[in-house]
Amino acid sequence: MKIIQFLCAGILLAAGMGRAEDVRIRVARNRDGNLEQLRGLPAPAKNDAASRGVFSLIKGSRDENGGDFAVLNDGKMPSKEDDPRRNFFLRGEGYLLLDLKEMTDVTRIATFSWHPAERAQQVYTVYGSDQETPDRSLAEKDGALAGWKTIAQVDTRKQEQNRGGFYAVSVDGDGKPLGRYRYLLFKISPTGNGLFNHTFYSEIDVVSAKDTQLAFVRSDETRKLYRFSAENNTYRFVIDYTAAPELEAWSKQKLAPVVIEWYPKLVSLLPSEGFRPLRDIRIRLKDDMGGTPAYAAGNEICLNHPWIVSELRREAVGSVVHEMTHVVQSYGRGPKRAPGWLVEGIADYTRWFLYEPQTRGARITKRHGNVRYNNSYRVTANFLDWCQRTYDKDLVKKLNAAARMGQYDEEIWKQATGKTVQELGEEWKNALPDR
Ligand SMILES: [Zn+2]
Repeated sequence: MKIIQFLCAGILLAAGMGRAEDVRIRVARNRDGNLEQLRGLPAPAKNDAASRGVFSLIKGSRDENGGDFAVLNDGKMPSKEDDPRRNFFLRGEGYLLLDLKEMTDVTRIATFSWHPAERAQQVYTVYGSDQETPDRSLAEKDGALAGWKTIAQVDTRKQEQNRGGFYAVSVDGDGKPLGRYRYLLFKISPTGNGLFNHTFYSEIDVVSAKDTQLAFVRSDETRKLYRFSAENNTYRFVIDYTAAPELEAWSKQKLAPVVIEWYPKLVSLLPSEGFRPLRDIRIRLKDDMGGTPAYAAGNEICLNHPWIVSELRREAVGSVVHEMTHVVQSYGRGPKRAPGWLVEGIADYTRWFLYEPQTRGARITKRHGNVRYNNSYRVTANFLDWCQRTYDKDLVKKLNAAARMGQYDEEIWKQATGKTVQELGEEWKNALPDR
């Protein structure tokens, strides 16, 4: 019987396919290499049977831009999604041999890979041999590899073509042993036809029946994480500053206190019926964001490392308040979506008028030229602030609640103020102080 089970971690479901009898293949993926979020699959082990074995290649060649065989069983993980020296990868197809050094009752095989794009997914067949000297001929007999027993065929691409991320693949017998072997052989295939389709393997585990006291790698051993919480653990945060170790003090002393104070504050400033705010928030410093200073996606806020460094004394912390507002907004999609200028206007309103009014960052000066209420960001923030002071102190709350429930409508402006948003826009513009 074939048992195939798919696990979804984070945002997608990856697929694997079993081959041999009674083999269960499970695949978990996440975007950020979080070893504690593998949907029940264990993190890489440090003291498994593979850690006592020796890897070599029977056929194929290692890409020397990557790490040596040792990275496969050193119980250490890459600290980021593109970390060639901490991964083993091939040029072309290859046959990777693992000498377990003794006959081993194998109960589980696990393979881990991590890459932002086409080198993340895993495509391999694993074979076992109980011979003292394994067959190195790679001869095929009746479509099978001579001298080897096929244990499993893994292909995580089944549903998601070349999606990047952190992949954990677990092969086991669903309670039964996979077999008794001295050697394992991995026939590793590229994930596609491109030049860079060779999987970044970070670790290969082999668990034997004797391995009852496994020690697992934890995320914070390889990554620089700062965890803290607010309101008696109601809200939990982690700042991942692996990419920016020099920002440790800033993360802990400047950013964290603002997050602790302002995330709960934003939640209560932007209420709506039945709203359940996200309670686990990740803030990650990244080096691959190009010209984007920061963004929020779901419960994750990504900060552009070089930009943050250049803005430490100016915009760095405020930009996180803006992004936290997006996390709290969690506006749904649908026909009655709030327009983008309003979504950004609210995020800049909370930032410039509530968090840091003293900086007067959203005041409108001559250099703005002709402004419109829907110019987004600071300009819209200024407009919102004026509407609130002039007409309805709860206007932002009302707009937010409607947007979150997918019921945004321009009528809301009229109901709250007696004027259309266009009329308000004109009035606001005329009321702007002489710039
Ligand atoms: Zn924004």
